[in-house]
Amino acid sequence: MNRRRPFARNIKRVALMPAIGFLLLCIFLAYWQVLQAPRLRANPHNRWARERVRMTEPGQISDALGRVILGAERTADGWDRTYPAGHVACHLTGYNTRSGLQASLSDALLGTGRYENPWEEFIEGPRRGNNVHLTLDLEAQKLATSLLRRRRGAIVALDAQSGAVLVLASAPTYDPDEVLASTYSFEMFRNDPDRPEYNRAVQGLYPPGSVMKVFTGAVALDLNRIKRDTEFECTGTYTIDGARITCPRAHGTVSIQRALAVSCNTTFAHLGRYFTPDEYEAYAESFNLLEPAGLSLSSSRGRLGDFSGDDRDVLLAETAIGQGKALITPFAIARLTLSVASEGRIVEPYLVESIRSPAGRVLARGSAREDGRAVSHETARLMAGIMATAVEDGTGSVARLRGVRVAGKTGSAENPHGDTHSWFTAFAPVDNPRIVVTAVVENAGAGSAVAAPMVRDMMQYLLDRVEDI
Ligand SMILES: [Zn+2]
Repeated sequence: MNRRRPFARNIKRVALMPAIGFLLLCIFLAYWQVLQAPRLRANPHNRWARERVRMTEPGQISDALGRVILGAERTADGWDRTYPAGHVACHLTGYNTRSGLQASLSDALLGTGRYENPWEEFIEGPRRGNNVHLTLDLEAQKLATSLLRRRRGAIVALDAQSGAVLVLASAPTYDPDEVLASTYSFEMFRNDPDRPEYNRAVQGLYPPGSVMKVFTGAVALDLNRIKRDTEFECTGTYTIDGARITCPRAHGTVSIQRALAVSCNTTFAHLGRYFTPDEYEAYAESFNLLEPAGLSLSSSRGRLGDFSGDDRDVLLAETAIGQGKALITPFAIARLTLSVASEGRIVEPYLVESIRSPAGRVLARGSAREDGRAVSHETARLMAGIMATAVEDGTGSVARLRGVRVAGKTGSAENPHGDTHSWFTAFAPVDNPRIVVTAVVENAGAGSAVAAPMVRDMMQYLLDRVEDI
């Protein structure tokens, strides 16, 4: 009887050993296959990891209404990208995995990096990439692209209430499929002197010309150095430290409102006497005027110029009218306009509406970021009214719309590389802003002639869309 107990214990021990062994094996497998998997895959020497990415069905990118701008099709050895919107969305999609949103959102699109879910993959098998939904309005983007045809320039449109990017168009464009058709076409594309690869909306640095007067006027008003009815005398010339700033003609006695409406250079250059370079730079910072666009796209930082030299007063006067050394992106001017439309608040626009798993689960959601206040509510409303006058009875009159009050500002920016750049920036309706549109066209002459009609057409189209919703 007594001898049976150790025997039973031995059986238990023998039975337990494989169970423990199996458990250890499970832990070992789970450790390497699941927990350490992302690290192993990230190892560039891991050929299997590259293979896995090649075999993963990549996610799509679509516009606000689900229209696909970047798709994927199966090939004999993996997946190829397709570009259903072609040249219309080329600066957003890019033309390979190292350009455009394909590059910056590759983790989301392939389900790698922080979008990797090893447990899910372990259970469900090979996964697909996630889908990216943009705030873009593809139809409006098409209109912008056609307006910019045979030009070099950019159009940006924003939803003034949500801060969503509706249009981000740059010209010239390219067809991603054609670029990759042959080595020859790729070389032609890369060496094109018009630089089609360049996303002018967020990378293009332009002298802002007279659209800068919106900023300069807001600074002087917000500092309480001038009032809406403060009067200036324009004799056609303003001289500062021997430098001459001129108007096409003498505008006579003008209020700041009239000066903006007729885009009087001498008045706004004179405003450089009403604030210091430090104050001016501080407002540029609080308006995020020089900040890159972000938006998951490669974008440029603007600059105002260096006010530390002996020529600082001249430079400030020139910068106040958007000349001098100031260089700013079209997107930054759109963002400035959005601030005026948003009663002085700083709103950081967004382009990615959401990132969703193949099953439709929302993994990330975008929204505009509020970043404090650039100027007071009163200053912004004053500037909005002044910009409305510029369209109703000034240089921006071509941007008038039937039944809607538009606030806008023209710009004709002199530059060392040929004819002036044509600018226009606007928002509407003035009292309940819904849409912001900014356009720049390189070497096209006066803003009122080329950029303003483009902005008008975009504004009309987008306001009609808003009313439909
Ligand atoms: Zn003048």
